[in-house]
Amino acid sequence: MPEGHLKFRPAGEIRKVLLIEDEIINQEILKMYLQDTYEVLAAGTGREALDIIHAQYETISLVLLDLNLPDMHGIDILRHIEQDSRYACLPVIVMTADNESEVECLTEGAIDFIPKPYPQQKVVLARALRTIELFEDRDILSWTERDSLTGLYNKDFFYRYASQLDAYHKDEPTDAIVVNINHFRVINDRCGKNCGDEVLKQVAEKLLEIVQTNGGIVCRREADTFLIYSPHSDDYHSFLEEASVILNIEEMSETRVWLRMGIYADVDKSLDIERRFDRAKMAADRVKDNFNKNIGLFDNSMREAELLAGQLIADFPAAIREKQFEIFYQPKFNVRSEKPVLSSAEALVRWRHPKLGMVSPGVFIPLFENNGLIQTLDHYIWSEAAAHVRGWKERLGIALPVSINVSRVDMYDPQLIEKLKAVVEDNGLGFNDLFLEVTESAYTEDAGQIIDKVRQLRDLGFHIEMDDFGAGYSSLTMLSMMPIDALKLDMQFVRNAFKNGKDTRLLEVMIRLAEAFKVITIAEGVETEEQMLTLQAIGCDIVQGYYFSRPLPAEEFEAFMTSCLSPGLKR
Ligand code: C2E
Ligand code: CA
Ligand code: CA
Repeated sequence: MPEGHLKFRPAGEIRKVLLIEDEIINQEILKMYLQDTYEVLAAGTGREALDIIHAQYETISLVLLDLNLPDMHGIDILRHIEQDSRYACLPVIVMTADNESEVECLTEGAIDFIPKPYPQQKVVLARALRTIELFEDRDILSWTERDSLTGLYNKDFFYRYASQLDAYHKDEPTDAIVVNINHFRVINDRCGKNCGDEVLKQVAEKLLEIVQTNGGIVCRREADTFLIYSPHSDDYHSFLEEASVILNIEEMSETRVWLRMGIYADVDKSLDIERRFDRAKMAADRVKDNFNKNIGLFDNSMREAELLAGQLIADFPAAIREKQFEIFYQPKFNVRSEKPVLSSAEALVRWRHPKLGMVSPGVFIPLFENNGLIQTLDHYIWSEAAAHVRGWKERLGIALPVSINVSRVDMYDPQLIEKLKAVVEDNGLGFNDLFLEVTESAYTEDAGQIIDKVRQLRDLGFHIEMDDFGAGYSSLTMLSMMPIDALKLDMQFVRNAFKNGKDTRLLEVMIRLAEAFKVITIAEGVETEEQMLTLQAIGCDIVQGYYFSRPLPAEEFEAFMTSCLSPGLKR
């Protein structure tokens, strides 16, 4: 639970003070002191006071409490306020003639004292105001420093506090840790968002408990990603064991939540705090989808990958300027009739790096997806591809549609639709000249919003292909809602079907499934004649892979295209 609730007081609204005092004369004096500045609610008994608190705690700014009440002791009221988290936003000033109770009141949560007999009006007012302001500021702080779902710190405050921790423990070895929930998306999808939230809360609670015992701090960075900064430990296995809570939720009772973690142990404190956690995340990503391993350690090979990543990011602007990115085209063949017919091509980017030679997109795409550079790169590739399509039309009289890859990160670009429209229009093309490949994982991240965007693109006339289908996780219900024209099976399906003896049952299921949703199927990564013929026999519509051709540089592809052209393709 977040500690403290941000108190919303509309501008100009007068603050309320609850005065708990049984002696009429004292009540009257304080009312007189306060009533020009505050709205005063008065309670003469403990019972009355608790009723008022219960009904109005959200709008009360201050409680003034007398210790001697006819029906209970003031300390009991203090305890009551302390114990109920809803009342955490209520500051209490105790009014007493007896110095003895002061310490006890402080430990029970009182903020300040006003002695009896009462001091002058201006002293009382000053104390009241100071306490209220102190509390309102503290409330704002505790609200903004925390994640509203789990009550853990949010990322920004976490980084700040982590740096402060360093200041106290300069020479102590410290670990940066990233914790993820295994298959959180599946959990969310299966048991619903509320239940997913509950899982996050229970994991958060457990992690907090652990760092409170072992030392350190924890935050939720986003979704199911938690960060921990704590004194170095050699035994993270028992940590994981302990942190893998058994859920106490109706929908999933007795289910154990499995976590995975990436650790950058004994961090280099001269590094930026965020860099330290980038390293831990790198280590965590290494054990993603690994059934035997749930702890990853940042090591030297990752250090090298990190160096390369740094270089590639630094070289990116020059690469765009100097047109170092090139498009290769890989043909797709329609295999519905016996003789395969060239039907389109996929645009695949390559980086001709001046020092590193040809760099494969498998290396730089994930990197650029992490920092937004992908949007610039993709836009560049789309424009280049559109220019090629236009050139083929103008010079060769050939209209061959090209699939461009739309990263899941592009899907969050509010300008995406405008950009794609402009790419088409600026090159004098029609929307059916470009196909969009959107990877399956894009759909599952923020399904509603993305489905909506894809639908708009499809309504414009773009042909939509869901890439890497089967690699991620989408439910059948989602599939039925998706506005797509083609399912592109993940390469792994083809690979597995022909591995150690042939078993194409799963492939067939996928193809039937696509048929049921009235979309065509594309198989990629098809390398042999046997694979091609089998796919053709079981009803796959389109085939792409080394069997027909590797991705080719634009000029080579032009020659390829011209040579295998059937008259039907000339529009
Ligand atoms: P993808 O979209 O699934 O592309 C298919 C990958 O499989 C390509 O790798 C292609 O060269 C490779 N491939 C094609 N046929 C075969 C085959 O028969 N056997 C084998 N073993 N591999 C085959 P590539 O070009 O390295 O691209 C890797 C990934 O990078 C792509 O996967 C795509 O996700 C991404 N990518 C490539 N170009 C772009 C781009 O312009 N924008 C974005 N956002 N992503 C891109
Ligand atoms: Ca693709
Ligand atoms: Ca693919």
